[in-house]
Amino acid sequence: MPPLFSTLGLSETLLKSLAALNYTTPTPIQQQAIPAVLFGKDVLGIADTGSGKTLSYALPILQCLQEEKWTMQSRHVPVLVLVPTRELAVQVETVFNEVSAGLPEKVRTMAVFGGVSINPQMIGMQGVQVLIATPGRLLDLIGSKAVHLGEVKMLVLDEADKMLNLGFQEEMDKLLALMPRKRQNLLFSATLNNAVNEITRLVLHKPEVIQVTTGPQEITLIKQRAFRVAPERKGPYLRHLIQSRDMQQVLVFTASSHSADHVADKLRKHGIDAKATHGKKSNHARQEALAAFKAGKLRVLVTTDLLSRGIDIEFLPYVINYELPRSPKDYVHRIGRTGRAEHPGEAFTLVTPEDQPHFKVIQKKMGQWLTLEGTDDEDLKGF
Ligand code: ADP
Ligand code: MG
Repeated sequence: MPPLFSTLGLSETLLKSLAALNYTTPTPIQQQAIPAVLFGKDVLGIADTGSGKTLSYALPILQCLQEEKWTMQSRHVPVLVLVPTRELAVQVETVFNEVSAGLPEKVRTMAVFGGVSINPQMIGMQGVQVLIATPGRLLDLIGSKAVHLGEVKMLVLDEADKMLNLGFQEEMDKLLALMPRKRQNLLFSATLNNAVNEITRLVLHKPEVIQVTTGPQEITLIKQRAFRVAPERKGPYLRHLIQSRDMQQVLVFTASSHSADHVADKLRKHGIDAKATHGKKSNHARQEALAAFKAGKLRVLVTTDLLSRGIDIEFLPYVINYELPRSPKDYVHRIGRTGRAEHPGEAFTLVTPEDQPHFKVIQKKMGQWLTLEGTDDEDLKGF
């Protein structure tokens, strides 16, 4: 029998909240991480995409906030969660709010990210207990003295490997320098670079390393297939895949914003309801497209690796890699948008002859080899 949430040391009120949300059994990462976080340890949690990492930190954090009653100076936040994208910031805040809704004492959360006016964020900062932020906007808010990190008690890096890789290095260095040395650090990710030691040195203090990844061959909930397609046949083949399988909700990944726009345009021209979302769109357009897609009101969402990390779409049945990701790790994250919380999904990858060497590299990193299925005999007339 798997243990129940009630065995992990969580308060009665949190258990009630979980029951009301129909969460009964903790996932393996939750089983191990929750007690460790409650114990006050630094945690490095590595677990597959869709395995419930958010609650692994949100639950014990909420419990600490209920118990500790930290008195904070004005505009100091006790809990900081750093995430790579605006979309993920919004999603993580939703999880905190859902679980804390039933608690006797209200927990003040706030998500801050760029692309929207900074004023409401500055005004709303007073009394915030859980701040969920992308690094750039957080630095802006600190610059205008809307928030201070000098009393941070708990720091979470979700998608930790992404947060600690080169793209965020400068911002992360600045942010870490503003926090007290003594704090609890919680790092979660599905993938890690070989840089575990580096990460540990940078951020963690005698961490409890919890690794419950089952290994690539065990990502059985995601059925993967790869198709060899000539470059000029990719568009028609994509439409053929979508139409012949009657896919009603499919996330399509491209290698660039430009390409995402182009693919979505082409789909629409062929009568398939599609939108593109990527880093060059306005914040409003980004949140709207994702919301419509999550709600089942948009059939195809075409995106870049912007959405490869962390985004949770309930029951998403299909992911298509129209173009390969540069990094093998991103392949794992992309296909991990399906096959979440025990619901099966399928991931299709289009591979041109030119892509083949890179696709080999990706598979080698995954430790998993797919048969490349030929498509030349497929009649694509009409697609
Ligand atoms: P990860 O961050 O590991 O990719 P998430 O935290 O986004 O995963 O969770 C993935 C999905 O699993 C979410 O829809 C979440 O509601 C669901 N989930 C999380 N924990 C549980 C649980 N204990 N029982 C059932 N579903 C869960
Ligand atoms: Mg996550």
